[in-house]
Amino acid sequence: MSKILVIEDEESVRDNLLDLLEAESFETVAAANGKIGVEMAMSEYPDLILCDIMMPELDGYGVLAALRQEPSTSTIPFIFLTANAAKSDFRQGMNMGADDYLTKPFTRAELLIAILNKLEKYANLKKNLSAISNKLTPRMQLVLHQLKLAIKNKNFEDFDIYYQPSIDINTGKITSAESLLRWQNAELGRVSPLEFIPLAESHGLIIDIGNWVLKTVCQQMQIWQDIGIHNLTIAVNLSPIEFNQIDLIPKVIDLISSHNLQSNCLELELTERMIMEDMNLAIITMEKLRSFGVKIALDDFGVSNNSLMYLKQLPMDTLKIDRDFIQDINSDYRKAAITKSLIQLGHDLDLKIIAEGVETEAELALLRENSCDAIQGYIYSPALPALEFHKLLLTNKSFSV
Ligand SMILES: [Mg+2]
Repeated sequence: MSKILVIEDEESVRDNLLDLLEAESFETVAAANGKIGVEMAMSEYPDLILCDIMMPELDGYGVLAALRQEPSTSTIPFIFLTANAAKSDFRQGMNMGADDYLTKPFTRAELLIAILNKLEKYANLKKNLSAISNKLTPRMQLVLHQLKLAIKNKNFEDFDIYYQPSIDINTGKITSAESLLRWQNAELGRVSPLEFIPLAESHGLIIDIGNWVLKTVCQQMQIWQDIGIHNLTIAVNLSPIEFNQIDLIPKVIDLISSHNLQSNCLELELTERMIMEDMNLAIITMEKLRSFGVKIALDDFGVSNNSLMYLKQLPMDTLKIDRDFIQDINSDYRKAAITKSLIQLGHDLDLKIIAEGVETEAELALLRENSCDAIQGYIYSPALPALEFHKLLLTNKSFSV
């Protein structure tokens, strides 16, 4: 049985909701104000939260912010309840994720659809998490322990952001770079992102890490813009949990404006898996981000067979062809044929195409022949610490293409 927490200061509305939910066999807990609501969320671990926006003292936004900070409650689905008349609530609700608020008075059907939809997603997420938790090797347990310690102590000194440039295939100039997280732990030494990122995702730590990454990248972008480096796009990889966060959009917009950045210099990289989970919602989020000028890239493209079927519908700017397709592309005619058609299709849709993981001259030549736009890979540069990438930018170097 799913447990639902109702946070609502108006007694009649709260009682109505509880009656309705109990009639549908949900287990319920209730809080009459925001502060109690936060405490109950942290002690009861509900499967979903319905929360009024307008409440005295701690309002709905405050409740949401408090819960998102705490790893154990950060992924609980959260649905805002808002009064019809309050236009500003409505707008802010929209910015925070359109399908996560209900306007009062709502029908029983509206309420149940919203709840069931979110519960299903949350159940899938929890299933994935417990599958991972049950299979932790001793090494993974160590990594997780160190990771938790770092996050708990807000110690991000051991984390670092590297930048891997993408080179324009026509001009040889750097046009963009992908930011990549690195972690050097005092106990464990360098830990691969392939090792620690899945653990961070499955243990509610990725939001804190992701926030730090976004903030650090924005600070760095500000430094580059201030010294006159414009038109350099920096890409940040988002995790599925971050992408589904109700406050993703206001958070990104805040960071851009507080660092005086041109919004079209920030690109968020999403993967097919993230988009396919709830494509309609993903499209809404992507459209909103783009309406603020933020660019969207589809990362690791080509891994899924479904890709081509939905590509046309996605509002985005860049397609990054997965390294698996690029490796030995010159000697594997199937890969070459697929990549060629991906590039053509991407161009028909007005997308910029970046080939990832390019390592050899032969691969580069084939991509150039097929009008790929940009190249990322060891052939030009590995991911570099910020300072080294900074020096590279200052040389204004043209790579030989
Ligand atoms: Mg990426």
